[in-house]
Amino acid sequence: MGRTYAIRTFGCQMNEHDSERIAGLLEDDGYQRASALEEADVMVLNTCCIRENADNKLYGALGRLKAVKTKRPGALIAVAGCLAQKDRELVRERAGHVDVVFGTHNVHRAAELIDHARRHGPVVEILTETVREDAEAFPSALPARREADHSAWVTIQIGCDNSCTFCIVPAVRGPEISRPFGELVDEVRDLAASGVSEITLLGQNVNSYGRDLALSRRGSANGNGTAPAGEDSWWCGEAWTSDRRARPLFADLLRAAGEIDGIRRVRFTSPHPKDLRPETIAAMAEVPAVCEHLHLPLQSGSDSVLRAMQRGYTAERYLERLRAAREAVDDLAVSTDIIVGFPGETESDFEQTLEVAAEVRYESAFTFIFSPRPGTAAAGMGDRFVPHEVSVARYERLRRVIERSSRLANEARIGRIEEVVVEGPSKKDPAVTTGRTRRNTLVHFPSPAGPAPQPGTYARVEVTAAAANFLQGELVSIEDPPPTAAQSALPDRRLIPVATV
Ligand code: SF4
Repeated sequence: MGRTYAIRTFGCQMNEHDSERIAGLLEDDGYQRASALEEADVMVLNTCCIRENADNKLYGALGRLKAVKTKRPGALIAVAGCLAQKDRELVRERAGHVDVVFGTHNVHRAAELIDHARRHGPVVEILTETVREDAEAFPSALPARREADHSAWVTIQIGCDNSCTFCIVPAVRGPEISRPFGELVDEVRDLAASGVSEITLLGQNVNSYGRDLALSRRGSANGNGTAPAGEDSWWCGEAWTSDRRARPLFADLLRAAGEIDGIRRVRFTSPHPKDLRPETIAAMAEVPAVCEHLHLPLQSGSDSVLRAMQRGYTAERYLERLRAAREAVDDLAVSTDIIVGFPGETESDFEQTLEVAAEVRYESAFTFIFSPRPGTAAAGMGDRFVPHEVSVARYERLRRVIERSSRLANEARIGRIEEVVVEGPSKKDPAVTTGRTRRNTLVHFPSPAGPAPQPGTYARVEVTAAAANFLQGELVSIEDPPPTAAQSALPDRRLIPVATV
């Protein structure tokens, strides 16, 4: 067996997607996946600084890997991701046994940097920004080892131009850069040809997709708002070059991706409420492949807290947009993110959040207690921090409201027949198969006799019971098994799970 690698991912989908790309690059370089991090020749920790205690988790993991390094000095440890981008040289100052540190703008250099460290010793390479013209800098443009053959992430933009006061993303991921429209459509077409039927368009603020393309197009050599000579299809794609608009909208991308043969489900995350345009809602309503699920981060139901967060919308504006989406898109499921105990949040502010949550009746929500992220504006609001015990009590009240609406929404599905894409056997009980509905709800159902349905199989399941976080059902029929490697037009890329914490 040649050299091996393993990756541990801390954090969000963007990080998980980066890990798939790092795995793809290492496999292209001849590495094979090890069964455990501690056994690998190259141990990669892909970090996140959004989650609480990210530092402790990283340096705790590095402390444990020190013993491995002492036993096998030839093994390499690489630290990547947001925390590496933020801490830079500090990573090696705190953990001198780390061999490679690289950030969010040079994921595409992972294999080269690891090779460099093997030959010449430790290396720290942090770029301050992504180079727009460097197509490889976009994670999706790199080879990948996906977690599932039928489902893929497609990065449509990186970075963020907003300045939410609690968020470290703009500092570690840089300004927003959209990938060219034509390139994205080509990528989705290739994914469909390789057997992928479900894609998730990924970005920090997908609804502002293309805004920077218009600006950079205006600043192109032509100076007249047209694409550089000979680059029309790469830059724009056929789908909107005939359009008079100077930029593609996210809605154009939804339509183009949803019309590609073989793509049956299009998801996206995350849209910013202030940028949710009528065109996006219309595309969701009109393109059958776009799933009936909208993740719309609320963060707070209080206008004064939203102002302090610099979110750029009021609670009423948020609700208006959501009403428009629900009116247009039949059977829409809505999920959200909410922060409790933001600096200065009063009892009355919090009650407004409860009111919005009760009015919306979310299908699910990620709820967090505020904790300051070093380097953000909110971290400097120490004089207004909400006592922890108050935040914990509010969190519990909010959790109960969300749980009630999730359970009611799921109970309303009982008796329906849902289209489910199989994800695989249940982790708790292999006799049970798990899948996901178009509205992004987990469904468990007893596996049929005979061979278990493969991940990516489309099935119809009758819902028989519901809990707050999942549905239970009975298999009605298997619609479509996933294509075999021989049926796919592109080479098969096998399942390579990436450990996530
Ligand atoms: S929109 Fe706000 S919360 Fe989202 S990534 Fe940008 S700054 Fe962070």
